[in-house]
Amino acid sequence: MLFIRLRAIVLLQLAAALLIVTLGLGTYVDIRSHALNKHYRLISTAMERIHHKNDALSTLIAQSILGRDILLSASYDSDLAQLNASMEEFEQLVQAEGLRLAGEIIDIRASSQDLRHSERQALEMMRSEDWVTARSIIFNTSNDLAIKLQAIDSEIAFGALRSEMAQRVQALEWMRKFMMALRMVAVALLLWAGQRYSQRMQADLSEQRRLRKALSQANEGLESKVHQRTLELEIANNKLATMSLTDALTNLPNRRNFDFTLEREWLRAQREGHGLTLGMIDVDWFKAYNDHYGHPAGDACLQKLAQALSQCMLRPSDLVARYGGEEFVFLAPATDMAGSKIIAERIVQAARNLRIPHEGSPFQFVTISVGIASSVDCHYRRGYVNLLEIADHALYEAKQAGRNCWVATTPLLFTPEL
Ligand code: GH3
Ligand code: MG
Ligand code: MG
Repeated sequence: MLFIRLRAIVLLQLAAALLIVTLGLGTYVDIRSHALNKHYRLISTAMERIHHKNDALSTLIAQSILGRDILLSASYDSDLAQLNASMEEFEQLVQAEGLRLAGEIIDIRASSQDLRHSERQALEMMRSEDWVTARSIIFNTSNDLAIKLQAIDSEIAFGALRSEMAQRVQALEWMRKFMMALRMVAVALLLWAGQRYSQRMQADLSEQRRLRKALSQANEGLESKVHQRTLELEIANNKLATMSLTDALTNLPNRRNFDFTLEREWLRAQREGHGLTLGMIDVDWFKAYNDHYGHPAGDACLQKLAQALSQCMLRPSDLVARYGGEEFVFLAPATDMAGSKIIAERIVQAARNLRIPHEGSPFQFVTISVGIASSVDCHYRRGYVNLLEIADHALYEAKQAGRNCWVATTPLLFTPEL
């Protein structure tokens, strides 16, 4: 349960840590085992040596007494010194290893001391040539007993040592096996966690791929939406631009549009060196029409007139616009006065042809008046303003002349101040 909750990466780290620890402990156990075996060999050798020296000393004294030859025991002291040295070495090794053999060692030492004491006494006797006493010391029962005791103690100590060492070796062996098992567990854990981790990575990768795909799809969707919105916005903008330049009632270009066009055409006329004609159109007695037929009928009348007027302009560069209220305006670039008069006549006639009844008019039908201004020289920067004023003036004259007609001013030559 705990493993399930732990993340794969934590499991991997745990397994690696366990492996490192078990490797370290295993190495320690191996070193320890090696050292123990080495000490075991050294201790065994030391014990063998002690055993052997003990025998050698006893044999030396016994042979010397039996042969009644003091010289045979000449090496006794040096052999004894060697025995003591071996004994010390043995004790040091036992202590270094921390073996619990103190009791056995004391026993060996004690029995060995007894024996050595008898032998030293016998040696004294032998030096004073008292062979009988020496013989009785060495071959009496207490000395035999000391020899036997020493042999038994040595045997016991050796046995105890062997069993304790064996126990330790056994413990180390168990530890080694335990470490080996732990190592195997760590390796298994490492493999399992590695597999889990790689599964997790795979899952993460596929999730990332899925997210990336979803994102790119969302982006595509967004892009197409943005594209669509941009198009819609463009259409709306175009509509707005058209609306801002178109008169809502008549669908003709509005005054704004006309102002732009007039300036543009004036500049074009300047560049190309041709003239420009402008006409102001006003519906006659229109107030009376509205008063009599009502405002909606007035609107419908304006729409009909607008359509008729736009049909009178034949060139693509010609323009008819609603100037405001019941006033219209037209522009005819590169048109001379003769051409302008033809347009004016066509326009006035077109309104008449509609035959829209008008009770308030002396003509009984809706009519229009037109004032025309033409410029043959468009050199002056804002000359079109004057053109408008002059056309307006001509319109006024047409009204004065009785309406339902057109008045054209003579072609204008602007003075340089303009
Ligand atoms: P004149 O022959 O001197 O031009 O006389 P008029 O009555 O046409 O002149 P006036 O300027 O006094 O009247 C213009 C009228 O046009 C006033 C208004 O009722 C009407 N009018 C202006 N714009 C519109 C419009 O958009 N719709 C309608 N129905 N009438 C309009
Ligand atoms: Mg008017
Ligand atoms: Mg009018």
